[in-house]
Amino acid sequence: MTTQSETDVTCSLARRLARIPHLELREAEPLSRHTSFGIGGPADLLVIPQRPEALREVIREATNAGIQALYLGNGTNLIVRDGGIRGLVIRTSGGLSDIAVEGTAATVECGVSLARLCFLCGERGLAGLEFAAGIPGTMGGALVMNAGANGGEIGDLIEWVEVVTPDGSCKRITRRNLDFGYRSSALRDLGLSILRARLRLRPDDPVEIHRKLCDTMALRCAKQPVSRFSAGSIFKRPDGDYAGRLLDEAGAKGMRVGRAAVSTKHANFMVNLGGATASDVIGLIEAARELVYAEFGVLLEPEVCIVGED
Ligand SMILES: Cc1cc2nc3c(=O)[nH]c(=O)nc-3n(C[C@H](O)[C@H](O)[C@H](O)COP(=O)(O)OP(=O)(O)OC[C@H]3O[C@@H](n4cnc5c(N)ncnc54)[C@H](O)[C@@H]3O)c2cc1C
Repeated sequence: MTTQSETDVTCSLARRLARIPHLELREAEPLSRHTSFGIGGPADLLVIPQRPEALREVIREATNAGIQALYLGNGTNLIVRDGGIRGLVIRTSGGLSDIAVEGTAATVECGVSLARLCFLCGERGLAGLEFAAGIPGTMGGALVMNAGANGGEIGDLIEWVEVVTPDGSCKRITRRNLDFGYRSSALRDLGLSILRARLRLRPDDPVEIHRKLCDTMALRCAKQPVSRFSAGSIFKRPDGDYAGRLLDEAGAKGMRVGRAAVSTKHANFMVNLGGATASDVIGLIEAARELVYAEFGVLLEPEVCIVGED
């Protein structure tokens, strides 16, 4: 429930945000439009900064209003509950998409899609990102999650990350202070907005890189329900095993709660059959965890981030 004073704060913030140049502002915006699951209640306010100065100004205004914003990339690792987000969501995808290449270093803004980055670096003969082909997130989301596949992780390539502090200034954090681990990084707990990062790549033959990128994409299409509404792997890999194997052998494939189902193609993916709610998905996550626990005594840990109000 939103109180009158919270509504007043949000309205006054909306008026201030409307004055910021290079900023798109939407009110009562359904987050189902901004998540790959196609699920999620409304955000009171959603902004899409087109330039770093606009992002910094938004953060300054949010801090002055006492509001902690939620940062959103492509929404491909997010379940937003059905009640949505009170306050402010800052979406970086659709803006903040600069890539500057200098020698073997690429400085990449947080809204850049990994898909674009992989192929652009490949064309310039810069290798290292082949593992990431087909991961549908942004640079910001990939850094927070330390996105990875096929033995590679984004954290391995990072020199530094620039974040925006609550007063709107920028701070550079070098890799050794970022604590990259399996699908985790210090950035997740910091709760600050990532602005850009510098990646160190290595020279290689563009044709060879392109071939590897295409092979990785083809493998994904063969194994994963890539054309369905999902959030990728639901659970993290447990020690020494695979969540997909445990779920498959426990008989989870095809399990349903409401309009959410465990994919029949890959047991660690859940899909929105059309009209699923966040409660359906969260109910299905619980049911699948219980099934695996009963069968194997392993408690799976969700990889997806669950945010918002019921
Ligand atoms: C079909 C499919 C396949 C996938 N395959 C893989 C895979 O192989 N490997 C893998 O690791 N993941 C995979 N994913 C999951 C997802 O794509 C990654 O985790 C991705 O890095 C998330 O990026 P995003 O921009 O969508 O982040 P979001 O989902 O928007 O956000 C994820 C987290 O990052 C935070 N965040 C986002 N941007 C910023 C920012 N600028 N500043 C601060 N915080 C921010 C959010 O608040 C949230 O906590 C897959 C998803 C799908 C749908």
